[in-house]
Amino acid sequence: MSTVLAAVIPAPNAPVELREIPEPDLEPNSALLEVELSEVCGTDVHLQRGNLSSVPYPFIPGHVSIGRLSKINGQMLDLDGKPFKEGDRVTFLDVHKTCNACWHCLVAKATTRCPHRKVYGITYGLSDGLTGGWAQKICLKPDTRLIRAESTESERFMAGGCGLPTALHAVERGDIALGDTVLVLGSGPVGLSAIILALMRGALRVLCIGAPDHRLETARAVGAHDTLNFENLSESNREQWVRDHTNGRGADVTIEATGAPVSVVQAMRYTRDAGKVVVVGQYTDHGETAFNPHTDLNKKHLDVRGCWGSDFSHFYRGVQIMSDANRSKPWTSIKLDRYGLRQTNEALKSVASGEAIKALIDPHLP
Ligand SMILES: [Zn+2]
Ligand SMILES: [Zn+2]
Repeated sequence: MSTVLAAVIPAPNAPVELREIPEPDLEPNSALLEVELSEVCGTDVHLQRGNLSSVPYPFIPGHVSIGRLSKINGQMLDLDGKPFKEGDRVTFLDVHKTCNACWHCLVAKATTRCPHRKVYGITYGLSDGLTGGWAQKICLKPDTRLIRAESTESERFMAGGCGLPTALHAVERGDIALGDTVLVLGSGPVGLSAIILALMRGALRVLCIGAPDHRLETARAVGAHDTLNFENLSESNREQWVRDHTNGRGADVTIEATGAPVSVVQAMRYTRDAGKVVVVGQYTDHGETAFNPHTDLNKKHLDVRGCWGSDFSHFYRGVQIMSDANRSKPWTSIKLDRYGLRQTNEALKSVASGEAIKALIDPHLP
């Protein structure tokens, strides 16, 4: 029987282990994906530390991946009803089983809050099969939404990775208008993709506040007009910097992509009257923060919007952008570090410390 090499997080706070897993028989209308690249993101760091609820340990991390279909049992169709063939290069929406039949899906039209959804590499565990990208192969269950990626360079696509659909959703939520000045808080993968996409959406200028310096250099390389390292600066200094760059008014739209609760209040204060704030960086619970409802919200006539996950449309649009050699060029400025399946603990460490901007998992490395 052939086996598949996979990196497994056995329990919260335990190091990643390499395991050999028997290659499963495919259920009808499912497929096996030979992984070209997967990634390590901030979520994986939280998963290893046990910071997210409803994670079925042990599990194989890696929620966004790209590769080739090596085996199909039955039929898997694309959006146009065309069947996929063995050998096709694809990526897939990591969110599975959005039901399109519940109150969240049908009435609230908030499919990313559908209680039935399962996520590869996060809420699917080893008991569900080969369901994460830190492995030689992923088992794609029936009704997994595959997207053709024949003309998408895998390295460039993964430079966006899971941050790309998240940032695309955030930029969409921000309703950025032509000529807006957009402020992005955070210079990690979501922040960097948000800078590129805000410009694509018509922002005149994008400002970025983040750290450390090498990430801010990347922020400028992908298109940010000006950046500020927030370390060693007081709150009022930072606010003054934003005002100096926005005719004293504050940003038209601010996208918070930091993970620090206090940044949400700062985002409100850095935004102009009647502007918009999109909160996308609070994926895990880092606690509470205080604000003044009168001065920070009501009197400002401010529009503050949460942004949870991403749906198929964000993922699909992201793949189309990455398939366009010209429009996807800014992502080539993001430095990538590749790790093999045996080096995933190092990869996690490098992402946790902020040293790596984007860490990729390449199962072909020794
Ligand atoms: Zn992720
Ligand atoms: Zn639903």
